[in-house]
Amino acid sequence: MKLYRDYADYLAERFPCKMQKLTVNAHFSCPNRDGSIGYGGCSYCNNNSFSPAIEGNSITQQLINSRQFFAHKYPNMRYIAYFQSYTNTHAPIDRLLDLYNEALSVDGVDAIIIGTRPDCISAHLLDALAEINRHHRVIIEYGAESSHDSTLQLVNRCHSWQCVVDAVEMTKQRGIDVGLHFIIGLPGENTEMIMQTVDAINHVKPDTVKFHQLQLIRNTRLAQQVENGEIEIPRFSVEQYINLCCDIIHRIDPSIAIERFVSQAPDNLLIYPRWGLKNYQFTNLLNNALLNNS
Ligand code: SF4
Repeated sequence: MKLYRDYADYLAERFPCKMQKLTVNAHFSCPNRDGSIGYGGCSYCNNNSFSPAIEGNSITQQLINSRQFFAHKYPNMRYIAYFQSYTNTHAPIDRLLDLYNEALSVDGVDAIIIGTRPDCISAHLLDALAEINRHHRVIIEYGAESSHDSTLQLVNRCHSWQCVVDAVEMTKQRGIDVGLHFIIGLPGENTEMIMQTVDAINHVKPDTVKFHQLQLIRNTRLAQQVENGEIEIPRFSVEQYINLCCDIIHRIDPSIAIERFVSQAPDNLLIYPRWGLKNYQFTNLLNNALLNNS
């Protein structure tokens, strides 16, 4: 029994065969660190905690290396190149298009996902991506994190919720699929505020959404602020977090696919929460809770 629309449902609707994401690292920087938009970055961010990219000299080599891993086991698998780390639209447009097209020219790669900030996209770039999207699916994932400007300011995101709304609208207008990313448990947010963000998500209606628990990561400004007692973060037990996820599922527009609710930073970087669960174990607990509530 399907308990909510998930990412597999979304992929099955968009692609005729099984798709696997392959993370690539295009070695972009972040405009919220290099001064183009802000300095210091988001207070919770340590980019070393992002999923490791398969190293290689070029986008092509990275994709070939990671494709090998799956190709033996699943010969019919097709692939999506996932530009994940940092801000993957933060470069001159010609360079961006070269990199995206390079990924799409690798054998087996049918689509790209571009992870970026909502304030790092232009009509010009979206027009060019819409052109690519006529032949190869392009998906843009914007880091939104919260619908509350007070929270965005507290964690130094350096953009507003309205900026997210505008980016989603501009992207959807061009027929490009949009994913949004949110963090649950940001400082200053209570359950009511989190549910208000779900209402705001329903309003902008992205195609997909990703949530994850706030992870307090070593060597971040937030970790320092929490340690100094300057800032408090909400602390959830696994049960409390699962109940919150159930509430989100019941509230979210059922046409929006939910990709995930948890993320796992490398153990040596993670301070909190240390729930000791693998992602699949969390999903099993969530599904059981949903079944018990239905
Ligand atoms: S979360 Fe993204 S936007 Fe924020 S500092 Fe890290 S890379 Fe930059």
